[in-house]
Amino acid sequence: MKIDEKILKEIETCVRCGYCQAYCPTYQATRHEGYNARGRMQLAKAVMNGDDISDLFRTRINQCLLCGSCSEHCPPGVHIPEIAERLRCALNEKYGLTAVGERMRKNITESGNVNGDEQKNRLLWLANLSEKYNVKINAKAEYLYLPGCVSSLYPSSYAVVQSFVGLLCISGTDFTVLGENELCCGYPLFIGGMESEAKSVARENVKCVKELGIDKIVTTCPSCYYMWKHHYPELLGEETGLKVIHGVELLAELCENGKLHPRELNETVTYHDPCDLGRKSGIFESPRKILTSIPGITFKEMRKNRVDAVCCGGGGNLESNDPVLSGKVSALRISQAAETGATTIVSCCQQCRRTLQSGARTTRTRIKVADITELLFKLCEE
Ligand code: SF4
Ligand code: SF4
Repeated sequence: MKIDEKILKEIETCVRCGYCQAYCPTYQATRHEGYNARGRMQLAKAVMNGDDISDLFRTRINQCLLCGSCSEHCPPGVHIPEIAERLRCALNEKYGLTAVGERMRKNITESGNVNGDEQKNRLLWLANLSEKYNVKINAKAEYLYLPGCVSSLYPSSYAVVQSFVGLLCISGTDFTVLGENELCCGYPLFIGGMESEAKSVARENVKCVKELGIDKIVTTCPSCYYMWKHHYPELLGEETGLKVIHGVELLAELCENGKLHPRELNETVTYHDPCDLGRKSGIFESPRKILTSIPGITFKEMRKNRVDAVCCGGGGNLESNDPVLSGKVSALRISQAAETGATTIVSCCQQCRRTLQSGARTTRTRIKVADITELLFKLCEE
């Protein structure tokens, strides 16, 4: 298997101290050594030394959430998500794509989105949006809003894009969407070990935005945000020249500038930090500023918050690779939310919303799950 020197050295840096164990969601959900960073690094060392454990190894690497929680607490600073991403690439090169990987590649490169839907369906969410909200499509505007594949194409997630668009209209923000011209950002390809395909998607997406003549992108998806902001310049070998922000940053600014006025909400609310937005991008304060500024709200932190937040179970393509394990992790996170006594858990990610909703349902926990856009829109809508 071809692995570059830097990654081999990183793998060797693991001293087997085990500090990562307490912070790894897949270990916490399984209590099995092979599911934490130390176990994964030991398997990697064995494979590098010629042991024939490829099936087990590949499964464990594909079960990593790439959440980065282990790396925050690793004394020598082994960067597990990067290692796992490189190993996924090397495994794909040596053994070909898994069935899940092949489906994802086909969907994104042939249909333009993660679930292989028809691109014209990307605007179905507009059908039941009130006519008072005017949405420009493929037009010149200050911001280009990219909802991402999940919010655009999964009816259960339409609320995120509808609420965000409603808030932009209420606040008088000038924006446009691409509709059927929006392509997947390529993040599922990148983290699935398909770097060259991800690079082609990145190139195409940047070209499309530049042709529209817009230089500000806002997205409500933390993975799109992370991909555009951090991986596109790396993959393309140059800065994109685009200002990329997450929707929650813009909403915090609009609340602060008096462009949005939420009504009172007498509820106890907790907040879940999405990994790509929080730990990986350092955006912790904007959502908390919004929530604590809502009159009447009681805000309670979970004991694992900010850099210590536990993944919702939806990271690293785990929901596609191992839905059962993904469900166990989301149940773990829901139990931490329930400990706070909150009646609503809020996040800033359509995928966290989906996995946490499913965790609440399977554990029969009486807690509402909402994206921050939904919560705010309900309180600002006239
Ligand atoms: S904390 Fe870091 S060095 Fe220690 S076992 Fe985990 S990955 Fe290895
Ligand atoms: S990235 Fe997350 S799931 Fe993967 S080994 Fe680290 S803590 Fe565990």
